[in-house]
Amino acid sequence: MNYRHTYHAGNFADVAKHLALVGVLLHLKKKDTPFAVIDTHAGRGLYDLSGSEAERTGEAKAGIARLRDLRIEDAPPLLAAYLEVARGWGETRYPGSPLIAARLLRPQDRLVAIEKHPDEFAALKRALQPYPRARAVGGDGYEQLPALLPPPERRGVVLIDPPYESENDFADAARAAATAIRKFATAILLIWFPVKAKAEADRFCGEVIAAGAGKALRVDIVVDNPPRDGKARLSSAGLLVMNPPYGFDTEMTRALDAIAPLLGSNGEVVRLTAT
Ligand code: SAM
Repeated sequence: MNYRHTYHAGNFADVAKHLALVGVLLHLKKKDTPFAVIDTHAGRGLYDLSGSEAERTGEAKAGIARLRDLRIEDAPPLLAAYLEVARGWGETRYPGSPLIAARLLRPQDRLVAIEKHPDEFAALKRALQPYPRARAVGGDGYEQLPALLPPPERRGVVLIDPPYESENDFADAARAAATAIRKFATAILLIWFPVKAKAEADRFCGEVIAAGAGKALRVDIVVDNPPRDGKARLSSAGLLVMNPPYGFDTEMTRALDAIAPLLGSNGEVVRLTAT
């Protein structure tokens, strides 16, 4: 396990993923009934954008930092809500998915955030301490997921966001998505994936869709000039959204369009169907 999200936190892919997460959570909050958030690969929760790791890759500088001058009042509603949460820890710190979810929970809602790496887990536990409705769990997200489904609330979102550092990650993520669909059919699923090869990403999406969720969207974001530090950097990422809430596609498209000129990105939301 070499992957550390600290190098990538706040990059264009995080921005798109976290926009989607905020969008889904705002929809779940439209009803008073409680919901659960399950984050299978949670990371450390809070990231230092002024540290050497973030400086080395420059990914946050080419991502969230470019949205710094955007005025919340001028942004479309989803982007405004995202910016408000993302800016909640100041300019040099960026919240990861568990902290974003924890911040948006109501007293009746619940978060389970799973992280395998011991150091990242220790940091996650600290980051979630102020949030009584959030629980950090150390261990393997894939192994723990089945026992958490369906949650007693019978409403909620499952975020599957592995590092894709091994060849098995696409297969493991597809299997986890299939388990989530089978055990918690009404769940909103968010499954992040890198687009290094188009055919691989398309195959992965086809496999997840074939597992049987009702509706599905694919959100893609591509950037022109990813930062380089001697290594080729990711320039394209995607997100599968299974059972997307009504109106989510329009809200997401508006938000992606608004950030496109700043990030040098192209964002697209496409409705998918099983073939
Ligand atoms: N979801 C986070 C966010 O949006 O802020 C980012 C997560 S990062 C892409 C992936 C995380 O998964 C890393 O912190 C890594 O240590 C952790 N990880 C890797 N394999 C895991 C596994 N099998 N179960 C749980 N966590 C794992």
